[in-house]
Amino acid sequence: MSTVTGRQRAARHAAPAVDLSADAGAVLAQVGHTPLVPLEVLSRGLGSTVFVKLESENPGGSIKDRTALSMVRAAERSGQLQPGGTIVESTSGNTGIGLALIGALTGHPVVVVTGDSISSEKLELLHRYGARVVFTDWTAPSDSPANARAVAARITAETPGAWRPLQFDNPANPQAHYEGTAPEIWEQTAGRVTHFVAGVGTGGTITGNGRYLKEKSAGHVEVIGADPYGSVYSGGHPGQILVDGVGNSWPKPDWPKVFDRSLLDRFLRIPNDEVYTTVHRLLNEEGLSLGPSSGLTVAAALRVARAAPHGSVVVAIAPDTGSNYLSKAFNPEWLADNHIRLAADFAED
Ligand code: PMP
Repeated sequence: MSTVTGRQRAARHAAPAVDLSADAGAVLAQVGHTPLVPLEVLSRGLGSTVFVKLESENPGGSIKDRTALSMVRAAERSGQLQPGGTIVESTSGNTGIGLALIGALTGHPVVVVTGDSISSEKLELLHRYGARVVFTDWTAPSDSPANARAVAARITAETPGAWRPLQFDNPANPQAHYEGTAPEIWEQTAGRVTHFVAGVGTGGTITGNGRYLKEKSAGHVEVIGADPYGSVYSGGHPGQILVDGVGNSWPKPDWPKVFDRSLLDRFLRIPNDEVYTTVHRLLNEEGLSLGPSSGLTVAAALRVARAAPHGSVVVAIAPDTGSNYLSKAFNPEWLADNHIRLAADFAED
């Protein structure tokens, strides 16, 4: 029930993709310009404020709308993507949803290559936007034909006029944050931001924001990566990663090209129990419905705020909405199956 079942994989929904093309410009203009809100309950008594950049407010529900739009626009400008050309990308979900939304609005068919761990809500959305979804073994190594990137490459080669955004290599990915997310944060904090916290999937978010904020503050803003267990970014052993969209289990030579590690001051590795407890606290105590990678960044930001000089302004990126994880993060069965315990469960022992 929590992830994708065989029946859902096979489902070809009767409902056709909605034709949204008449509103393409108006809807795409809503990408970005997201709110920055203080955590009034969770950062109480810390002497510093934690602000959350609510990327869940993008039309497709995640920060990846920015990246998808930036990559599509760059490809249209360079002529790599022609009108009606098919977009093919391997993605754990949100980039696919962003691309599917943009494809539906601009007349580009979209093919998304993904793995079984995608939440059923994200899969449903992809289908509703009219994307074709191809499943593969998400853990297959880079030299395997089942590897998600290899499958996307094959489909691209077989589809005339197809284009691959290649979010792990595409400079338009971090550029979306250098030109959009980061200037918004700088303005919204009136240049008072002292710490910036983000998770690292492709590394586009932390690289684009980190570069801009370091430049603007003459190096004063501290840039902190929040990493889940199972990821090697923070020096851990490779293992199962239970936080969607972040972390990496491949060794360094295979790290994404867009990720500039030199911009980070440090990484904080956050246990899964703390990540998911924070997701639930955000909903229950702040009224914010956010996904697991937001629990990761906020948990890290609270640790940072606890140790930072009084009056620090800590900004955490909240990449996506909790609505896409009702069957995982908010499902007691899924949490138990994955041996995740919320702080409230410990209290009952
Ligand atoms: N959180 C979620 C839910 C994501 O989908 C992603 C993108 N993979 C990230 C965080 C990390 O963003 P980035 O790829 O820019 O590092």
